[in-house]
Amino acid sequence: MHEFSLAEEVINLAQREAEKNNVNTISEIQIEVGDLSGVEAEAFESALGLLVKDTILNNSKINIIRTPGKGHCNACNLEFEMHHMQASCPHCRAFPSIINGGQEFRVLSLLVE
Ligand SMILES: [Zn+2]
Repeated sequence: MHEFSLAEEVINLAQREAEKNNVNTISEIQIEVGDLSGVEAEAFESALGLLVKDTILNNSKINIIRTPGKGHCNACNLEFEMHHMQASCPHCRAFPSIINGGQEFRVLSLLVE
């Protein structure tokens, strides 16, 4: 369950940004969670929901953007949607494939008031 420590990190980051910009409220935070990032988006969202109480993000709109995993097959050059790291090519079953996206975990933006 590293979702809880990630949620804490996100809250700390938001707190630092708010202090840096001299604001007391963050109206919205956007977080990108790739399907292959190893972060369970639902678990992360509920962890964040529990941890934001009494923090700068208490009343913020939390916007989690999920990006699908993308794979590229070396053997047949197919680009395909990758649902897990060990996925083989859906066309020729080659393995392993190159991961081309979906590994992101980052705060995209913070909207302050
Ligand atoms: Zn292939």
